[in-house]
Amino acid sequence: SSLLDGKVAVISGAASLRGIGMATARLFAEHGATIAILDLDGKAAAEAAALIGPAHRGYACNVTDRAGCQTAVDQVVAELGGVDILINNAGITQPVKTLDIDPASWDRILDVNLRGVLYLSQAAIPAMKTRGGGAIACMSSVSAQRGGGILGGPHYSAAKAGVLGLAKAMAREFGPDNIRVNCVTPGLIQTDINAGKISDDKRVEILAGIPLNRLGDPRDVAGAFLFLASPLSSYITGAVIDVNGGMLIH
Ligand code: NAD
Repeated sequence: SSLLDGKVAVISGAASLRGIGMATARLFAEHGATIAILDLDGKAAAEAAALIGPAHRGYACNVTDRAGCQTAVDQVVAELGGVDILINNAGITQPVKTLDIDPASWDRILDVNLRGVLYLSQAAIPAMKTRGGGAIACMSSVSAQRGGGILGGPHYSAAKAGVLGLAKAMAREFGPDNIRVNCVTPGLIQTDINAGKISDDKRVEILAGIPLNRLGDPRDVAGAFLFLASPLSSYITGAVIDVNGGMLIH
């Protein structure tokens, strides 16, 4: 049988067609899940869901809007029957140095990457409880672990490190409800977030630091999310899985 048969999976930031969220949505659907794509543009989210198949849905949701997260999850419960899996994937980055981080940029980066994880989890957890449990996986980054990835600024590192703490605390709090919470920390994955932002010289330099000698593909991260969403990881909570080709071995 399929790993996610009968499960409903909510995935934030999955409308970007070449992104990690969409690759995760496709892989989860291949394994039997029904997908709810949440993204800023509801039409783009619905179109992305339709590309996967007619059973899947897309909803407008800005993860920085608490009421909006609740509305989107309520719609998922009404139309798809419940929520079993939440992938907190939505995120943005900005290449800027410490002394150049202005208050608005700090707020924007922290709000989407960190506050959004709280708000969408707050909306989904009660729905998971009514199903007797669930699995949440959150998007962090190698940037949280090594103090900067390649393109994210210090505020991005701080936000993604915050995700690790928030997820571990939620893992502790909701373990008794049979809700597991884990994180992934990807290295450099080729998506629109970094497309056209890496020169050929920079690319050679980056590859020299990656034992597997290639940049990551969205499906590399989707595979880790599938593991964390499925019963294969039934006794794993509060964990962090590196998906970085060996860029950081610790
Ligand atoms: P992407 O830009 O293709 O996808 C990000 C998605 O998030 C987009 O669909 C965007 O519309 C959506 N989004 C942005 N703000 C939102 C908001 N406020 N509410 C809802 N949705 C919102 O990029 P990606 O590389 O697929 O990024 C996915 C996640 O992976 C992000 O959290 C990113 O920080 C993280 N990440 C990426 C890499 C990488 O190298 N690509 C590495 C580590 C972590």
